[in-house]
Amino acid sequence: SKSKGRNAYSFYSQSLNQSASERLKMDQLLRGALERNEFSIVYQAIVSEQGTRLKGFEALIRWSSPELGQVSPSVFIPIAEQIGLISEIGLWVLRESAEQLKLWQSRYDQAIVMSINVSPRQFHDESILPAVKGVISKTGLPPASLQLEVTEGLFLSASERTLNNIRLLKSSGIRLALDDFGTGFSSLSYLNQLPFDVLKIDKSFVDGLENNDKDQAMVMAIISIAHRLSMEVVVEGVETPQQVHVLRELSADALQGYYYSKPVSAREAEARFLSQSGL
Ligand code: C2E
Ligand code: CA
Ligand code: CA
Ligand code: CA
Repeated sequence: SKSKGRNAYSFYSQSLNQSASERLKMDQLLRGALERNEFSIVYQAIVSEQGTRLKGFEALIRWSSPELGQVSPSVFIPIAEQIGLISEIGLWVLRESAEQLKLWQSRYDQAIVMSINVSPRQFHDESILPAVKGVISKTGLPPASLQLEVTEGLFLSASERTLNNIRLLKSSGIRLALDDFGTGFSSLSYLNQLPFDVLKIDKSFVDGLENNDKDQAMVMAIISIAHRLSMEVVVEGVETPQQVHVLRELSADALQGYYYSKPVSAREAEARFLSQSGL
């Protein structure tokens, strides 16, 4: 979201100001983090608009560094992109969360979707296509149970080949979501360029939903455009029952946010959303 982005930036520039050697230190620690098993994944529930049915989870990476403590992905993902680590980390998230979904699908007979964040840069890398296909064949998951979330940032740098790679991925049957919708530049023009299944409305539109008529009008218009283009709408950052009420009135398809659950460990996600039926 917008505020997250601002926080990430001030964090980041602050750490730059503190010292270049600290940034170097972080680069160095990040390079070894995968090998040292310092990453984990937390899962945030995505529920139907009535809040009665689990639709799936978003996988969100966490880095717990013995030296630095918990480092937010808003801080280390941009660094991983800069120093060329994002493909390796991204593929780890993909494999790990797909294995988790496989386990859950075998334990609970529920058709749920795992939604995975993919950095624009990962699509420049040739490894993404075979990796996704490999994960699908290894796990035997229905391709449509995997969803890749991309942001508008993708379109700023995307070559025709990158876009083509994404179209090829899409034709393997996976789902595609446009994340953080509305926070970038000229968002509308991107909607038709790739076959998105899902549009995720950013939290910044939700914050003012209860008492800002303009935010309501924006969300209503976005949902109506998405539906006309046969896309499902997931609204992020839902925190209050009032927001839930408004979003139901506006015909959102799915909701995600602290109101339902913070991102939690696989064990907790399973206990709260899968092993007990009903939400
Ligand atoms: P995002 O993809 O937009 O993810 C949503 C962020 O909002 C998450 O922050 C989530 O914990 C937080 N959030 C969800 N519901 C609420 C709510 O109701 N209120 C508030 N205040 N926050 C909420 P998180 O986990 O810190 O992730 C931050 C960003 O880092 C993500 O934003 C995404 O851009 C990136 N990220 C996280 N995991 C991955 C990953 O595996 N790969 C890549 N490439 N990026 C990742
Ligand atoms: Ca975001
Ligand atoms: Ca996301
Ligand atoms: Ca988002």
